[in-house]
Amino acid sequence: MTRSFEARLVNGGFGDPALYLGFLHERRALLFDLGEIDALRPREVLAVGDVFVTHTHIDHFIGFDRLLRIMLNRDKTVRLYGPEGLIANVAGKLAGYTWNLVEDYRLKMEVHEIGPRLVRRVTFSCRNRFRARTRPHARRFDGVVLAEEGFTVEARHLDHAVPCLGFALQERVHLNVNGDRLRRLGWEVGPWLSRVKAAIRSGKPGETPVRVPLRTGDHVRSRTLPLSEIAAAAVMETPGERLAYVTDIRRTPENERRVLELARGADHLFCEAAFLERDADHAERKHHLTARQAGEIARLAGARRLTIFHFSPKYEGEEALLREEAAAAHEAGIAPVT
Ligand SMILES: [Zn+2]
Ligand SMILES: [Zn+2]
Repeated sequence: MTRSFEARLVNGGFGDPALYLGFLHERRALLFDLGEIDALRPREVLAVGDVFVTHTHIDHFIGFDRLLRIMLNRDKTVRLYGPEGLIANVAGKLAGYTWNLVEDYRLKMEVHEIGPRLVRRVTFSCRNRFRARTRPHARRFDGVVLAEEGFTVEARHLDHAVPCLGFALQERVHLNVNGDRLRRLGWEVGPWLSRVKAAIRSGKPGETPVRVPLRTGDHVRSRTLPLSEIAAAAVMETPGERLAYVTDIRRTPENERRVLELARGADHLFCEAAFLERDADHAERKHHLTARQAGEIARLAGARRLTIFHFSPKYEGEEALLREEAAAAHEAGIAPVT
């Protein structure tokens, strides 16, 4: 599989939730949750363009200030996505400081508040002293919060005694041009290949004509071939990865149904496991999952890889137990359950 990003928990299993997803071929990163991010280098923080916040309990949102501090004098727009209340939370954070002498700064914070039916968007601009001038712009929520050329990010509403979002990133299919085949066919490398990829991605019909530059010695001429022929001869397709991020939920049928929508067939599921199964009652009261429940959800979803995190500090020194419990429940799916 062609990897295009790397995901890592900023604070390991016991620290605040924050999953840093850095793209390998561009200076860009996403953050899932915004707990403490002191362990990120400033250049890593500056690469963040989109932040997906599950909910604004302090351990998931206290990193906002460091993000703001590092980005403040940059000409940049950072987008935050989170549940209802996020616009007020961000406004409250920004109102905690004095904003004169910053009119030259260009930083903008675009906040997307994802309700069950509508996504409301408000922009806070440093030039305007972070006062949100406009009324929120609203669009219908269809499950997708961000759609880009290379990937989409989906969200589902979960229940954690407050609205809490779960997220999944789905990469689009990878299209790689086979350089050896190109050379053998005498097809000249050039911008036409990007157009071919775009045509395949957008589902253009196979008979779509494409002009292919052909090289013979120093001479380049062109020939028109159908898209399907070019795709079959020189473009390799590999499926994109799916990554799901779920935290701070109790195991209820409704939560489970929605998490499975996010995590089904995921290559990698990041799932909280705050407690051991021996403390299942406590987990239920606190609206969290046990390691066994995380493993069972990963198995039901058919997730290939599971990473657990957000461990209660009371298990300091017992991390191996949490991992063993989750892995046992996840792997139980390999043998038929009777
Ligand atoms: Zn919480
Ligand atoms: Zn939490």
